[in-house]
Amino acid sequence: MGTFKAIRIDKAEKGIAAALTQFDEAELMEGDVTVAVEWSTLNYKDGLAVTGKAPVVRRFPMIAGIDFAGTVERSSHPQWKAGDKVICTGWGLGETHLGAYAEKARVRGDWLVRLPEGISAREAMAIGTAGFTAMLAVLALEKQGVSPKSGPVVVTGAAGGVGSVATAILAKLGYHVIASTGRMSETPYLTSLGAAEVIDRNELSGPGKPLAKERWAGGVDSVGSRTLANLLSMTRYGGAIAACGLAAGMDLPASVAPFILRGVCLLGIDSVMCPVSPRQAAWERLARDLDRSKLAEITHEIGLSQVLETGPKILAGEVRGRIVVKIV
Ligand code: NDP
Repeated sequence: MGTFKAIRIDKAEKGIAAALTQFDEAELMEGDVTVAVEWSTLNYKDGLAVTGKAPVVRRFPMIAGIDFAGTVERSSHPQWKAGDKVICTGWGLGETHLGAYAEKARVRGDWLVRLPEGISAREAMAIGTAGFTAMLAVLALEKQGVSPKSGPVVVTGAAGGVGSVATAILAKLGYHVIASTGRMSETPYLTSLGAAEVIDRNELSGPGKPLAKERWAGGVDSVGSRTLANLLSMTRYGGAIAACGLAAGMDLPASVAPFILRGVCLLGIDSVMCPVSPRQAAWERLARDLDRSKLAEITHEIGLSQVLETGPKILAGEVRGRIVVKIV
């Protein structure tokens, strides 16, 4: 057994210490599949983990990184053999289980998803947890009966990772997408992803009213707090909002009025513990419903050595779209 390159997080006197270093393979945790990691990504949660801004890491030492794509090196799991191309997102990777910013990962075979036909490992990580979550949100809206015919849909935090992918998918599916952003300078970017309208997020961040003028039939929210409350109050009769994020806060200062007077539904989206079968289905839909040229437009590549300096930028809302991390 040797060592491999990894971003290691240790507990420090004040918070955490993160560094790109060599990690001993003997220290890898239990798992029936060992993967040679080729690509990872930087999500909002990764930003929190590498900066220590929130207690994402719950075991030390930890290898940060919540998503990887790579090739199976060794497996004693019946479903996987050496050479298989796999994706792993969530399941506590980078939180309770040694994670993705490393040349090697050992995980439970039950956590893995087969890389869909036609998607490269790099593209899978350009999608990553953020894009996967956007797809889960779209699937939840569809399940609730929201379709392009129902009316416009709103996407908040639209220039961010979840928001960019949600905007691109919904536009490709034929929805009239209203993209809400704090960066109006990104209007050309959002329009190029397919947004029909771009609105300033200030329109949705005020205290709001229990019910307001009906503006959309559905929405994907990565912002939370007052924004989510306003989204609900502006949703048309029978519509639905998929809530997946907390970029503005974890609170929800809303009233029940949209639920009991307009039959509006609030749909919770979790990507971390999402069972394998809907996971595979969401990845298959991503392969079909996310325009690869749009994905390329959304994506910016960095190396493993740039992760630590990029973490604070995603927390500051300065990152546009998705960041893919080249491991080797
Ligand atoms: P990003 O940082 O890429 O995107 C978040 C976007 O939210 C920003 O780009 C910005 O968009 C907007 N934003 C940031 N701060 C504020 C603020 N104070 N008020 C209003 N809008 C703000 O992160 P991700 O897309 O990776 O993640 C988005 C959210 O979703 C995070 O909270 C993350 O934790 C959560 N998440 C949840 C998952 C789940 O399983 N439920 C999985 C993945 C992510 P703009 O500049 O366009 O306004």
